[in-house]
Amino acid sequence: MTITKQLHTPPRTIMTPGPVEADPRVLRALGTPILGQFDPAFTHIMNETMEMLRELFQTKNKWAFPVDGTSRAGIEAVLASVVEPGDKVFVPIFGRFGYLLTEIAERYGADVHNIECEWGEVFDPETVIHEIKKVNPKIVAMVHGETSTGRMQRLKEIGAACRNQDVLFIVDAVATIGGTDVKVDEWNIDALIAGTQKCLSVPSGMAPITYNDRIEKIIMERKKVEKGIATKADAQTVRLRPNIISNYFDLSQLQDYWSERRLNHHTEATSMLYALREGLRVILEEGLEERFARHRLHEKALVAGIKAMGLSLFGDEHSKVPTVTCVLIPPGIDGETVRSTLLKQFGIEIASSFGPMHGKIWRIGTMGYSCRKDNVLFTLAGLEAVLIRNGASVNAGAALQAALEVYEEEVALSSL
Ligand SMILES: *Cc1c(COP(=O)(O)O)cnc(C)c1O
Repeated sequence: MTITKQLHTPPRTIMTPGPVEADPRVLRALGTPILGQFDPAFTHIMNETMEMLRELFQTKNKWAFPVDGTSRAGIEAVLASVVEPGDKVFVPIFGRFGYLLTEIAERYGADVHNIECEWGEVFDPETVIHEIKKVNPKIVAMVHGETSTGRMQRLKEIGAACRNQDVLFIVDAVATIGGTDVKVDEWNIDALIAGTQKCLSVPSGMAPITYNDRIEKIIMERKKVEKGIATKADAQTVRLRPNIISNYFDLSQLQDYWSERRLNHHTEATSMLYALREGLRVILEEGLEERFARHRLHEKALVAGIKAMGLSLFGDEHSKVPTVTCVLIPPGIDGETVRSTLLKQFGIEIASSFGPMHGKIWRIGTMGYSCRKDNVLFTLAGLEAVLIRNGASVNAGAALQAALEVYEEEVALSSL
């Protein structure tokens, strides 16, 4: 048998909506020696990570910790722990990930009510609020930034309405956290799910979540039954409140592990926690406001370049998410040929799209460490060259000039 060669990955510029390039500091942290999961040196790292997550989430919640698994593990942990069979869950859908929330809630027995808007648009908060009053659900679950359509939903008014009506508000902010403003407490979000491989610039494999005492109360009630300590008076409740079905995603057990009690559940993903901790340090050192401004700047340069080239963007421009730019594939051009040539000749990766958008748009991410001037300029240059090679009519040379204009304006403004 010949032994497979040592791992060597080709150099890449990753401009997709995830996974994006990991910050070099994060990659170095991944090589840190292993500690035991109850070693005080390690539990200290767990606590530090929780503290930094609270800052990132802009929350005073007690619970903010990562679930081991990709982002959907975080979504599943929250829904598995909160949704009881027969619960009414309202999911307004404006892209692919609304369907994921629906599917997971249904798997845990929810009676899901959906409304859907045209892909490329978002909801007027009033429409959602009106529907909440009509449906009177226990939970509203919603996506903040839809990577499939490049849209961002306004949440503040919906959160306030949920709190007023005593409805739980659960938000998937996987594509926006660390790239644009997400205010957990101010927007009355009861539980929020993030991911590592998008704007946090950490590899895929953890889902940081946070939830408040309204969510914890439900979890604790379900746990009481599970432990078999329900009182006689609770007998009715025992039947009405079955145990949390999942072991891996049982937040009552996960929070015991993340509390000072350190009750054993799983073995924490040591190296990923080091990576997350470093990713959070990078973010807080940069500053949340500064980081969001950086994402807006590179988005602006990218969009200016795309438009100057003569291409059009997909979707309603007022609800565009700053971290994903959806570009309409010009008529007569095969989107997949362009993508594969970009990868082969330039080592640049941009994303295709799902469902109704398939073959119609490319999606270009500007997330985390990948969201940089050199990446934006290189992507515009590569895309223009490949389009010309494929016979598209583009305004040759205009894209880079337009992007440079944005960067020079920024320098001029910041030196005022
Ligand atoms: C990427 C993404 C997910 C799923 O993330 P995985 O890490 O692949 O599980 C969920 N929701 C949104 C909005 C996303 O962009």
